[in-house]
Amino acid sequence: MIPPGKTLGILGGGQLGRMLAQAAQSLGYRVHVFEPAGPCPAGAVADKEVNAAYDDIAALTTFARACDVLTYEFENIPSAPLAAIAGLAPLYPRAEVLHICQNRQREKAWLRANNFPHVRYAEALDGDIAPAIAVVGRPCVVKTADFGYDGKGQMKIASDADLEQAAAIFRGRRCVVERWVDFSREISAIVARSSTGETKVFPIAENIHTRHILDFSIVPARVSPPVTHEAETLAVALAEKIGVVGLLAVEMFVTTGGEVLVNELAPRPHNSGHWSLDGCETSQFEQHVRAVCGLPLGEVTVREPTVMVNILGDAWRWQEGRVIGDPSWGAILAAPRAKLHLYGKTEPRPGRKMGHFTVRDADIATALTRAQELKQKL
Ligand code: AMP
Repeated sequence: MIPPGKTLGILGGGQLGRMLAQAAQSLGYRVHVFEPAGPCPAGAVADKEVNAAYDDIAALTTFARACDVLTYEFENIPSAPLAAIAGLAPLYPRAEVLHICQNRQREKAWLRANNFPHVRYAEALDGDIAPAIAVVGRPCVVKTADFGYDGKGQMKIASDADLEQAAAIFRGRRCVVERWVDFSREISAIVARSSTGETKVFPIAENIHTRHILDFSIVPARVSPPVTHEAETLAVALAEKIGVVGLLAVEMFVTTGGEVLVNELAPRPHNSGHWSLDGCETSQFEQHVRAVCGLPLGEVTVREPTVMVNILGDAWRWQEGRVIGDPSWGAILAAPRAKLHLYGKTEPRPGRKMGHFTVRDADIATALTRAQELKQKL
């Protein structure tokens, strides 16, 4: 066990690192943040911020030596530098887990090899997507294997014209091609597994994406008890099989036939778990700290049905490509059982996650209606 008072090192300095740092500090830990581009949202709240490239082994070594335990909030950290600091302080989740989850081709191959239900897919590793599209059939979606998030590096293919366009865009890039899923719901399960082997799954979230970016998370998810049970069971089985210590977020599709298919894994706090800051006995950030430090895991009961809404840079007032005003925060600040969370980012950009808000109510339908109304008023 790494007790309160020790130092947690976080690789990555975005909003996930910021909320993780705040949770760790509430438990009495010191927090150091390593982020290439400073000043960063996590650095603003941390006890120490180090700005250096991930492949600056000397800087990373000095950073790791000053920490008692290390974690990350960002998946696209190259594996060679992580290998270089192995042994200086425990790193959770282990580098092997990150290696699988940071690349779609490895992640899907791992799901397939371990018989977890996943979306039908084919690999296009030589940059020629046509044969893979012929295998999975249309409609389908092409995704780059590396460095994709929030729908970046993805394209849906239905027509011949789409195929021609995609062939040019993705030529020479390592890709996977996935069958398009006719889903009735998108859901996610966030499971915590501690260094002692204890596991706990947060209540299942239902996620609504707009232009491939998470828009709303709704908890509890509006799915049947068998689907909830299946999603929870899958999440625990995945966490145990991959041997995660910390959080594992599992994004899933519920098909129109009621089948649950795994879409993506993330070994870190996840946007679809932000509701837990206000709606759950323990937040996902506190749970991650508890898990990587070997503390008992916290209770994950829902306090009240909760809806989380992302606030993107689009919510600022724009004119001719320039920001001319802030969103009007007043309605959220004045609303009962609503909470505003901003990440301290100074430069709004379209599609950039600037913050989120939550709305709680006695039933989920009312919470969702109120959340939609408040979003309109931004
Ligand atoms: P991803 O980056 O894989 O999580 O994809 C972002 C979002 O795009 C998902 O949450 C879905 O809304 C949509 N999407 C991705 N893959 C598929 C698919 N195979 N079928 C249908 N929708 C998809």
